[in-house]
Amino acid sequence: MTRAICPGSFDPVTNGHINIIERSARLFDEVLVLVSTNSSKKPAFSMEERVELLRKSTAHFPNVRVEKLEGLLADYAYRAGADTLIKGLRAVTDFEYEFQLALINKKLNPHLETLFMTTDPQYMYLSSSMVREVGAYGGDISEFVPPEILEEVQARLAQKQEENG
Ligand code: ADP
Repeated sequence: MTRAICPGSFDPVTNGHINIIERSARLFDEVLVLVSTNSSKKPAFSMEERVELLRKSTAHFPNVRVEKLEGLLADYAYRAGADTLIKGLRAVTDFEYEFQLALINKKLNPHLETLFMTTDPQYMYLSSSMVREVGAYGGDISEFVPPEILEEVQARLAQKQEENG
């Protein structure tokens, strides 16, 4: 039984994330998507919202599970019996930070391997922050987020913009 973890903050999940999750689900028996808190920034979507949006967007993949990340990723992977982390790479700019993270995770859990998956070129420019920015001003995000969650994400971003406005 092979089990891989796709970690991220998913604030919110984008089609770029789904592409990496889907391709991982073809390679591994089970894929665990782990939603992390990002200590350096306040998320636009709460942990519960991010988990829920991911569950709705991945419901059609029978071997994908979505959970909240508690504690250290390296420890969680050990407890969950997963020995592979999958990270999506968009451009070289992603690489330096991801390389550092991979080395730290390897140090914390020597059995944990990080595999990098190159983005599908159509998603190269796509990030959660871009979705938040375009959505906040009422721009069309239908090509950027899964159809199952489009309305919810649009409504939430517009509401947030109004609150901050
Ligand atoms: P973001 O950088 O969009 O805030 P996350 O922290 O949620 O993303 O990222 C989770 C994982 O998904 C990371 O490995 C990240 O490199 C990857 N990822 C994010 N967007 C894309 C994309 N458009 N194509 C491929 N991988 C991506």
